[in-house]
Amino acid sequence: MKIRSIDTYVLRTPLGQKRFFSSQAAFPERNSFLVKITTEDGIDGWGEGGQYGPPEPPLACIEKVLAPRLIGREADQPVRIFEDLYSFCRDFGQKGTYIEALSAIDIALWDIWGKSLGKPIHALLGGAFRTSIPAYGTGCYYPDHYQDTDRMLRELADEAKGYRDAGMTAIKMKLGLLPIDLDAERIAVVREAIGPRIGLMVDANHAYNAASAIRIGRSMEKHNVLWFEEPVPPEDRQGYRRVRDAIDVPIAGGECEYTRFGFRDLMLGQCIDIAQPDLCCAGGFTEWIKILALTGSFGVLTVPHVWGSGIAVAAALQAIAVAPQVPFTAAGVPLQNEPMIEFDRTHNPLRDDLLVERFVLRDGTIDVPTGSGLGVEVNEDELQKYSAAH
Ligand code: MG
Repeated sequence: MKIRSIDTYVLRTPLGQKRFFSSQAAFPERNSFLVKITTEDGIDGWGEGGQYGPPEPPLACIEKVLAPRLIGREADQPVRIFEDLYSFCRDFGQKGTYIEALSAIDIALWDIWGKSLGKPIHALLGGAFRTSIPAYGTGCYYPDHYQDTDRMLRELADEAKGYRDAGMTAIKMKLGLLPIDLDAERIAVVREAIGPRIGLMVDANHAYNAASAIRIGRSMEKHNVLWFEEPVPPEDRQGYRRVRDAIDVPIAGGECEYTRFGFRDLMLGQCIDIAQPDLCCAGGFTEWIKILALTGSFGVLTVPHVWGSGIAVAAALQAIAVAPQVPFTAAGVPLQNEPMIEFDRTHNPLRDDLLVERFVLRDGTIDVPTGSGLGVEVNEDELQKYSAAH
């Protein structure tokens, strides 16, 4: 089962009027970087690499550097291949673009291996703890007209209610673009809109220094916020620890971290209560298993970050299926000791239309695909529709 070819795809879709902001940037488009690895006996595997960054750098890594090292290798050795390629990249690519490229390759190789055996990836990883996964909705970003405070707050409440009415049992809102007092008001507005029983998490995308994060963090305590995500920049380990020590809200982070080594440092730094590796950035399934072992041994629950296309969602579902409770109880509780799947609710046809079958929210959960490999099929027409020339 030797690797014959590696095709790369940059997918793009402009958001036009649906443009929105996080604390860091406007999102004028959604894009994804996909790879398709094909074996000599004709099995295709799909992978996705990266999240927020431009797709071209991981594409160049694969096309110019990694693909020539992969052609002709046996495809059903994803762990061996990751280790070989990581060792090759160590001196120049321990984080960032190279690991995003390796993540895409790794996911595609696990997809191939599963397809070759007729088994889903969660079976290859040792067996699923769950067949469906409770989803939390990510939304409540900032609209283009965020400076029109009354309108912004009114629409924020309506959006949050919409997620609750669609069956979400937990939602995550954005934070950090506006002054702390106004963003604290946004948290209050969302809590009021969804009522006391829906889980609420907040995500600052590292908008604050520790002092500011503690200020707004204290305002969250009365709203029963389940986690405060990326309060400070990912490099500021001391800041994480300061915030975590100062407030009674669990701290989440890790979407900007890479490989087991990055998560080792977050654990040793006692930075976070919830670890959020992104399968498409942190090293695919191969590193996921190692990160899970590491975080679990520190008593930290892992709830992956998911932002990409349907391939990223499928990978996360396969991965979460094999995540044990931290710690075990007879009836696990989502976000207390059970993971959830992040279900981005912003407009993204690459998530909703790229696969032949859509992910459906049923009773607040999404089923883990049971087909072989990732368990999903790419719609080639949609792939062509969103493919950008490169
Ligand atoms: Mg986040």
